Amino acid sequence: MEDAVKEALSLVDPDRILELARGLISIPSVTGEERAVAHHARDVLHASGLQVELHGSEDRPIVVSTVNPEASPFLVFNGHLDTVPVADPEAWTRDPFDPVVEDGRLYGRGSCDMKASCAVIIHILEVLSRLGMDCAVGAQLVPDEERGGVHGTRLLLEEMKKGRLRRPDYVVIGEKSNLKVRIAERGSFRFSIRFRGRATHTAYARVEGVNAIAKAAKGVLALEKHIDKYHPWIGHPVLSVNAIRGGTVINQVPADCVIDIDRRLIIGETAETVAAEVKAALDEAGRGDPDWRWELEAERDEAGGYLYSPPSYTAPDTELVRAFYRAVPLATGAEPELFVEWAGGTDGRFYRYAGIQTVGFGPRGEHAHGPDEFVYIDSLIAQAKVYLAMVLELAGIQERPG
Ligand SMILES: [Zn+2]
Repeated sequence: MEDAVKEALSLVDPDRILELARGLISIPSVTGEERAVAHHARDVLHASGLQVELHGSEDRPIVVSTVNPEASPFLVFNGHLDTVPVADPEAWTRDPFDPVVEDGRLYGRGSCDMKASCAVIIHILEVLSRLGMDCAVGAQLVPDEERGGVHGTRLLLEEMKKGRLRRPDYVVIGEKSNLKVRIAERGSFRFSIRFRGRATHTAYARVEGVNAIAKAAKGVLALEKHIDKYHPWIGHPVLSVNAIRGGTVINQVPADCVIDIDRRLIIGETAETVAAEVKAALDEAGRGDPDWRWELEAERDEAGGYLYSPPSYTAPDTELVRAFYRAVPLATGAEPELFVEWAGGTDGRFYRYAGIQTVGFGPRGEHAHGPDEFVYIDSLIAQAKVYLAMVLELAGIQERPG
């Protein structure tokens, strides 16, 4: 069996991965403008003899391609083709859309997040189409990830619910994970806190004024700190006060100040537990203050519950995670490790919310969303080999290279 895997791994072509990655990076595709890059991906898959469908809208297509579409189980690799903009071109020392290789790194906007990974996914389909294998393997290359995924992955999940698209048994998200196995991601709960004061003339500030900005300052200091909790699959939770609005004119004590908070949740936390923690912290901060008044404001659903994205995970004893744990040493010789780092959400949550086993596994790189973004080329090759070994593990190995 190990020989079969080795033989399959020899089909991974580093030059081809680079060629595909350069092609994707050189087509700008800021969120909302993914059409050209999606058409390019479709044409590349087509030219390699793969069957391709476009879903989503004409302007923002989703590229879907599947090898052995009738077989089972069905594994999908998901990657997003949109990128954030080049915010500060002066800060780049290279052309973000003319990808160059230096010191084993591939530079360019979207190289790390995550077009090079999409190139690996395309190449994996090319390789698998040459192996006879009892497993369906698909690529879903989506737009809109950087702005929430409503027009990308979430739309695909809706199509699946309506029976218009086959539901996968397993999903792999190709976002950067430093070649570690990412089985969980933090949830997010976004809310505001409105601090109340009493407006008056500046001259009476100490007589009858209650300064809402000063109250908010006290509240910010009570909330904006390290949260001493940890989950071994996911790490620490985070709270960050990311916006503040208060006051009207310079000669009036402000009656109102609002702070906006982004709180990332670990497994075991909910919006309710977070709201209770916030209340405890603010009650403590305002103890003995007769003018301490605040309210938590958050979107709610029809039943009155908070609207938020819960944390999500795929447990270590599931087939997909176990397949990765076998594949990593087979493909790279390294011990598999869990990815437990400060990292943002991915489209993986949509599949997990639908009950589908989902693992994140992707390359190493730096400066995603920043100037001189790059990805390590050797990590792309390792990523491809792990993907291939993992597919063969899941499929039960019946490949015949040819
Ligand atoms: Zn990304």
